[in-house]
Amino acid sequence: MTFRAPLSEYEFLLNTVIGFDQITATERFAEADGDVVSAILNEAGKLCNEVMAPLNRGGDLTPSALENGVLRSAPGFGDGWKAIAEGGWIGMSAPQEHGGMGLPMTLTTAVNEMMSGACLSLQLAPLMSQGQIEALEHHASDALKELYLPKLISGEWAGTMNLTEPQAGSDVGALSSKAEPNGDGTYAISGQKIFITWGDNDFAENICHLVLARLPDGAAGTKGISLFLVPKYLPNEDGSLGAANDLKVVSLEHKLGLHGSPTCVMQYDGAKGWLVGEAHGGMAAMFTMMNNARLGVGGQGVGISEAAYQQALDYALERKQGKSASGSIADHADVRRMLMEMKADTYAARAILLACAHAIDMQVATGEAEWKARAAFLTPIAKAFGTETGIRQADTGVQVHGGMGFIEETGAAQLLRDVRVTSIYEGTNGIQAMDLVARKMMDGGDMAHRIIDEIEAQAEGARATHPNMGEAVWQACESLRETTEWMVAQDDLQERFAGAVPYLRAFARVLGGHFHLSAAIADKGGPREKLARFYIKRMLPEHAGLLVHAQEGYAGTMALTLEELAG
Ligand SMILES: Cc1cc2nc3c(=O)[nH]c(=O)nc-3n(C[C@H](O)[C@H](O)[C@H](O)COP(=O)(O)OP(=O)(O)OC[C@H]3O[C@@H](n4cnc5c(N)ncnc54)[C@H](O)[C@@H]3O)c2cc1C
Repeated sequence: MTFRAPLSEYEFLLNTVIGFDQITATERFAEADGDVVSAILNEAGKLCNEVMAPLNRGGDLTPSALENGVLRSAPGFGDGWKAIAEGGWIGMSAPQEHGGMGLPMTLTTAVNEMMSGACLSLQLAPLMSQGQIEALEHHASDALKELYLPKLISGEWAGTMNLTEPQAGSDVGALSSKAEPNGDGTYAISGQKIFITWGDNDFAENICHLVLARLPDGAAGTKGISLFLVPKYLPNEDGSLGAANDLKVVSLEHKLGLHGSPTCVMQYDGAKGWLVGEAHGGMAAMFTMMNNARLGVGGQGVGISEAAYQQALDYALERKQGKSASGSIADHADVRRMLMEMKADTYAARAILLACAHAIDMQVATGEAEWKARAAFLTPIAKAFGTETGIRQADTGVQVHGGMGFIEETGAAQLLRDVRVTSIYEGTNGIQAMDLVARKMMDGGDMAHRIIDEIEAQAEGARATHPNMGEAVWQACESLRETTEWMVAQDDLQERFAGAVPYLRAFARVLGGHFHLSAAIADKGGPREKLARFYIKRMLPEHAGLLVHAQEGYAGTMALTLEELAG
């Protein structure tokens, strides 16, 4: 399969749908004008097509391995990392004073998505560094920033994030890793972390671990957790590398997919670390990294959705079965349905992703609470819908291939195996949905209603040129509004949680209708209008069933006792 970075999709979405010009109209991002955007997307596209995509299959066939305690990366991944680092892609949105490019997160999101479609296993490495850079930028001392940020941004060093322990997964507050003050301003970190992505590699000089641990006076639960920076090699003041720290990779996990990305069990035995942010304020600091990563993981789903679509289309155009206009299976109605669903949903998920990144940029540029609330609201939707779209479309991609989809040599199966974890890590999609209906509705549903109002206003306006599509989106908004009111009225959060996932999916469906309608308006009579009609008539109606489910509440979900479930 030959991956082709979807440059024209990005140009269209940024210029016509998302309002990228609103970002460049701010002083903060004034330099990111149209020429810069085109140049960036083109260069990133070359990197994806020519360097990263050719590494994808090899990473699956020859996974990263641990040999006598030394990690060997998959073939060519070191060169891939070098190309990513030298292109400046790790520090695209990082501060310029530390060597970054200071570009909008919207552009970084676009580039990260393309990289994910090209080679997800390798893309995880710069994504981890980006999250760490952002966490250090906002929470670390000046001394730590001076020492670490330039090296992380240049790719000389790489970053990881260490939350998970065997007994502390979604419940991060249950962690037992400890941090003892050394008396010199540093700390001794001890404990075991599992599932650590790129916990080691053989291409960066140093690996910098952000580790959550509890100080001796830390309270139980999330409130008593602190964040520490724990490097593999202890740096000297001039940045040169000193002694090895007391930490190691114990083993690598055997996984369903993502074989090129080593998932490590890490052991810390009194390793020297530096506090990042306030003592006991680790979760706040870590959330900076996690929010960044949530958007990034949503983009991973969209990237794989794109790759699966391209591969399915290529195969369908070649494969001849039965009688059809062109002779290929692409002219059978059911195969065409699958291709249309893949294309329509990839567009919807990508637009939601970019809308979230756009809100983040506007928050950074203006400091306005409205943008902050909007970004916070859209993040769980972008993460969950992006990843579910990736999984669904990779699955559909296998189906389009028929039996060959089940045979590894086509690569369709790898996409499905690789993308499956994206709905699990960075907060499972269930946790994302609960966040949406609880924390993100602590404003009484104001942000949700403001977004619904905007979509409804657009649908109202579209009635003149696109009466059927406008009406369908308008009606969907009314249903979504009703269920949002129901959600907010439930004081018992369990009632909300029982319907959180279908509610999030319905919200995403309606947002997708909104962005497809924008495309239809911009491309009247063209292919984007036709695709929008397909989505709005055939895929948007799914929201109605989802909203019924969302409002059914807790009792029915819990109706069977545990004994009856087992019966
Ligand atoms: C390939 C891979 C890479 C990873 N990389 C990293 C990494 O770099 N760093 C890191 O720290 N971690 C990493 N993780 C860990 C990942 O973030 C966790 O697996 C994830 O947070 C879920 O935790 P868990 O596996 O313990 O599942 P559990 O928490 O045991 O969840 C099991 C199920 O129960 C549900 N559930 C749990 N609690 C609740 C609740 N309160 N309400 C409703 N439902 C609930 C979940 O949604 C899920 O469906 C990685 C995992 C994998 C598989």
